[in-house]
Amino acid sequence: MFSVKLASLPIAFLVFIWNVPCCAAQTVPSSLPAEIRRAMSAVSKDNLSRTVNVLAREFGPRNAYFNQPFRDDKCTPETSITYPENNVIMAAYRFAGMLNYMGYMTRLEPIRLDFTGKLYGYNVVAEKTGAIYPHSFIEVGGHLDSRPQTPGAADNAIGIAAVIELARILANYPNSYSLRFIAFVGHEHFYFQNIGSTSHISTTVDNGDKIKAGLVLDGIGVSEEPPTATSVIIHDGSRESAEIADLYCFAAKTFAIPIKCRIAMDNALSVGSDNLSYWMQKQPATLNVGAWPYKQPFYHDCGDLPDIVNYENAMYTVQLNLALIILLDNGVTPPAPAAATPER
Ligand SMILES: [Zn+2]
Repeated sequence: MFSVKLASLPIAFLVFIWNVPCCAAQTVPSSLPAEIRRAMSAVSKDNLSRTVNVLAREFGPRNAYFNQPFRDDKCTPETSITYPENNVIMAAYRFAGMLNYMGYMTRLEPIRLDFTGKLYGYNVVAEKTGAIYPHSFIEVGGHLDSRPQTPGAADNAIGIAAVIELARILANYPNSYSLRFIAFVGHEHFYFQNIGSTSHISTTVDNGDKIKAGLVLDGIGVSEEPPTATSVIIHDGSRESAEIADLYCFAAKTFAIPIKCRIAMDNALSVGSDNLSYWMQKQPATLNVGAWPYKQPFYHDCGDLPDIVNYENAMYTVQLNLALIILLDNGVTPPAPAAATPER
């Protein structure tokens, strides 16, 4: 997550975050509630915790400058281990393996991570072709990599764990639109911010495919009002992105998900996770965070360990995303979405 730095800079006054009250009622096709409730009941907090532990402890720091994990909670490099590839590639292989095991086809997208071209990593894209709209994609993803000095549990192993859990539960779901579950690389490397998602989106658009929604998860294992679970959905002010945000909170309300859903707008394009890559390329997308302005103990620090993640917040966030994805896939639109939201 990049935005805390931005929020602390003097240019913060340029950022216009506008909190929008959420959602009037809307009819949902009668077959959907049962399907959505079934999917939501399958979410496992233990799965989320297990995946975060694997990513943070076996591959943290998930950074191309490292070929070994940390030995302890003080972030001492484990000198007795040398992986055959750098940590971010090893983590990408693990992500791909888990998705392959669920029956998904996965693709590795090579991404250069430094000026010399020696360091690189992969975006991993798992795809499930839609029966009716194969060339229109609902994409859900987050950044797999971390800063060099941190195991990156809350930022952003938990986001990747959520993507994996969504993929697991939707593996047998009969989707009309094509679904993509993505681990992006290049958000936390300094070569070029968000280079992995930027490259993925431009390739998608160049292929003539349509992005129906880009759903970015970053820092979802934090609540802004503990013990209440919270989700903040940030959009860029475009009508399509604002509709996705409205649909999120509509889903929370309609399916009584115990999470407080709040919408914020960033029409200065300063909220810099991988959502920015979608917004810069005029694609509909939202960023889903647990708290905004971003707050996380041990941000970009060695203390960002699996124990600090609020797994309950993440669990309800996964439920929220499941409900949203199924609503999107069935063409449900929010009631009077962007009516109160000015065009950018
Ligand atoms: Zn970060």
